[in-house]
Amino acid sequence: MKFNDRRVIITGGTRGIGNAIAAGFASAGARVVISGRDAEVAAAKAAELDGDVHGLALDVTSGESVQQFFAAATDWLGGIDVLVANAGITRDKLVMALKDEDWDEVLGTNLRGAFLCAREAIRPMIRNRSGRIIAVTSVIGLTGNPGQGNYAASKAGLIGLVKSLAQEVASRNITVNAVAPGMIDTDMSADLPPKAREAIESRIPAGRAGTAQEVASAVMFLASDEASYITGEVLRVDGGLAC
Ligand code: NDP
Repeated sequence: MKFNDRRVIITGGTRGIGNAIAAGFASAGARVVISGRDAEVAAAKAAELDGDVHGLALDVTSGESVQQFFAAATDWLGGIDVLVANAGITRDKLVMALKDEDWDEVLGTNLRGAFLCAREAIRPMIRNRSGRIIAVTSVIGLTGNPGQGNYAASKAGLIGLVKSLAQEVASRNITVNAVAPGMIDTDMSADLPPKAREAIESRIPAGRAGTAQEVASAVMFLASDEASYITGEVLRVDGGLAC
């Protein structure tokens, strides 16, 4: 897939899945902005990647930060062709033990944060009559999972947002899709207790966790010209976990 001079913004590209997505787009010729809550970390992580990659500060829980980030990112890129709403967190507990702040932080980052970013991206895309938005949800948003009620709600909500926005902007040549990874080897999944991880892995038909690069390939496909008639879709990247 070629993305020569395509302008791509990825929220949370400092590590894990977002970093692999940034590496994939940059190596395919795109100009890429990644974000980190710490500006210096974002800049350093961008510098580590081959290609035209810039790192900027962003906290998706803050509307002000989102506005400043998009202004700076679109200024540097000269516009926006692709948004990958990837930033996400977990605060896992059984529902009866969840504190209000566990709920608010996870919903505020994974769902409200993605909404704020999509709203910023959609305006210039409508003006251009062209664009691609890909949200990184999770199979947990499709299936639920004990100990992840807040996370599952945020990722299920994200799917509702994607399907609604897809219908709102389809006539403007903009597609809006989600990828739903299963168990992927990153810092986030490394936080899982070994027993919980083994229990999930034993249920993966492919018999292994996925890689961040495998998620990046799916995101790049949905951003490509080849996927021009796919919108409102949720593409699982899970080795069959949520079949
Ligand atoms: P990591 O924990 O490795 O990375 C998370 C990224 O999100 C970091 O770059 C981090 O940036 C960014 N981030 C976190 N909070 C904020 C915030 N408030 N504002 C802006 N950026 C933020 O996670 P993964 O790479 O594993 O996860 C990426 C996405 O994939 C998430 O949405 C996750 O829910 C989803 N996913 C992951 C799965 C897995 O098994 N790993 C499975 C299914 C879905 P920084 O800390 O530098 O600010």
